[in-house]
Amino acid sequence: MTASIIAPARAPVSNPPIRRANRLLAALSSRDFAILEPHLEPVVLPRGKVLFEPGDEVTTTYFPCHRTMASLLIVTRDGREVEAATIGREGAVGGIVSEGHKPAFGRAVVQVGGDALAISTSHLEAAKTGSARFGDLFSRYADALLAQMMQSVACNALHRTEERCARWLLATHDRAGDKMIHLTQESLAEMLGVQRTTVTAVTGVLQDRGLIRTHRGRVEVLDRPGLERAACECYRAVEDHFTRLLPEVDV
Ligand SMILES: [Zn+2]
Repeated sequence: MTASIIAPARAPVSNPPIRRANRLLAALSSRDFAILEPHLEPVVLPRGKVLFEPGDEVTTTYFPCHRTMASLLIVTRDGREVEAATIGREGAVGGIVSEGHKPAFGRAVVQVGGDALAISTSHLEAAKTGSARFGDLFSRYADALLAQMMQSVACNALHRTEERCARWLLATHDRAGDKMIHLTQESLAEMLGVQRTTVTAVTGVLQDRGLIRTHRGRVEVLDRPGLERAACECYRAVEDHFTRLLPEVDV
């Protein structure tokens, strides 16, 4: 099966707020962005949309905009899944490490729906090879993504669900734009690789501690410093490494 999608364009990509809405694209020089611009298509990604499944040929790269977020999930034979990476407006989904037109290893699914920019991996690849600075930026982003995946190995094996839940809430909160996170318990369960009942129990503990308040399909952050103290070290480790590798990308 081939991953597909490209919905009708809604706004010109050259519109500065749209470009600015993905921080990786915003870090490109005007000259490098001009190479990509004719090939970028604005799309709307609904929550739950699968961008590619394991084995799919990856032909499209997505740049999440604003609060849009996607997960890279590893799917086991019995259908269980656990998250390897979260990608929001600071990055891109698909064709980054593999350079595109390669079979996907995991599943990419939209956790927080919204705007994105899509481009065929062949156009992205041509741009990467045509500009050394462009290629360097995406190589460093690939390193940051790999680091996040490595940290997730330790996190999934060693850290308590409550700490991991706080970690993902912080990462989502950074990209939410306000104190309200649009994240369902189903999405959180998918990201943490646990049952929804476990998510209910864990978010209940965080709520009892006055750190968050859960609404229907939303989580309100009440005490950000407290939530950072409740999270495992992985949140800070991943964010700090990203900043060191990509200082010009403002998450
Ligand atoms: Zn952790």
